[in-house]
Amino acid sequence: MDLSLDKKQLEYINLIRELGEQKIIPYSSKPVHSSDIPFDWQLIKMLGEHNLVCPTIPEEYGGLGLDRFTTALVMEEIAAICPGLAAVVDTNVHAVEPLLLAGSKQQKEEYLPALTGKDAELAAFALTEPTGGSYINGMTTNADKRPWGYVINGQKDYVLNAPLASFILLFAFTDNDNKSNSMRAFIVPADTPGCIIGSEHNLAALEYARTASISFENINLPNDLIIKEQEICSGYLLMGQTLDLGRALVGATAVGIARAAYDLAREFADTRLQNGVSIRHHQAIAHMLADMATKIELARLMTWKACWLIDKGGDYTVPSAMAKVTASTFAQQVTCMASDIMAARAFEKDSLIERLVRDARVLSTLEGTNNIQKNLIASLL
Ligand SMILES: Cc1cc2nc3c(=O)[nH]c(=O)nc-3n(C[C@H](O)[C@H](O)[C@H](O)COP(=O)(O)OP(=O)(O)OC[C@H]3O[C@@H](n4cnc5c(N)ncnc54)[C@H](O)[C@@H]3O)c2cc1C
Repeated sequence: MDLSLDKKQLEYINLIRELGEQKIIPYSSKPVHSSDIPFDWQLIKMLGEHNLVCPTIPEEYGGLGLDRFTTALVMEEIAAICPGLAAVVDTNVHAVEPLLLAGSKQQKEEYLPALTGKDAELAAFALTEPTGGSYINGMTTNADKRPWGYVINGQKDYVLNAPLASFILLFAFTDNDNKSNSMRAFIVPADTPGCIIGSEHNLAALEYARTASISFENINLPNDLIIKEQEICSGYLLMGQTLDLGRALVGATAVGIARAAYDLAREFADTRLQNGVSIRHHQAIAHMLADMATKIELARLMTWKACWLIDKGGDYTVPSAMAKVTASTFAQQVTCMASDIMAARAFEKDSLIERLVRDARVLSTLEGTNNIQKNLIASLL
């Protein structure tokens, strides 16, 4: 594994840092309460101008076709500036994964270009239901087969991008008595009659992003909106692969958040004087900074290894889960240590450090909780 970054990868990093300074930081440094104010499409437009709204879409469908490793670099940079924006992009990457893995050429041609270019739209990935996210077999959304397609009924919850998406990648069972063989993925255009987006959740994390429930009330989906290639592979496998691929990017988001907190704490430690001495010269503070930098490095290396395995076609399930658990756990520890260093200021509501603590906190829940990741890792040891 070669850890040096090539010219193109460094260009992406520099590009996002520049965009961050000019356009994203002025936005993300303001407190945002997602359901209180209209979604600001300007940040999406800005990423769209560089085709970064869904960077994994292959070039033949209008995208950049970035590999997983380069996508992780992009995600770390975006997350270091605006974690909610990283969640929006990450959700797009997630939503197109089943299409890339098992969609027909016609489906790819119809749905992937919409997420590319300067007018890129957004997509959502709907798996979790109100009754629970961890126990997948508890899912009750049902797709009833008809000669012309499917009638779908059910409800999904905590779906990122739901209020904004032009299509939703939906998982449902076609036979609730035979769940192990009947999970399928569907493409649901958001304007399908009966597809009802609920009111937005007012979440205290990833504030730029929008999350809502979705009800599917007798929606009629034609046969060409089921991801057909699944007839030759199980829907469970498709869902599992999508989540495995996505977890490595949660690792990258966690590294970006931890890095942002470390930078704040380090700057504060340099300039904060107590009894005439910069607090950085106290060994207790210096050791905390050393621990933070080490945890960030470790999390990044695990994330990069998982992404490298994905790109090389290696077995990435366990490394990806390990990267997600480690990076999200470390992000929580690093943001809390930063908060300790900054002391009273860290408790100013909606200050950057206070928001980073909350953003780091939610990553242990996203894309399969860390408990579920440990179950997965243990089952494959
Ligand atoms: C900001 C945000 C964005 C989200 N975006 C999306 C999205 O875009 N699409 C989507 O489909 N979902 C999304 N989710 C939902 C997320 O995937 C679920 O919250 C997650 O899977 C956990 O489900 P749950 O909240 O129902 O918790 P539960 O499944 O009820 O779990 C509760 C607790 O019990 C533990 N637990 C449950 N079962 C086990 C077990 N077998 N072993 C050990 N521990 C267990 C869990 O680890 C957790 O600690 C999002 C959630 C948040 C907070």
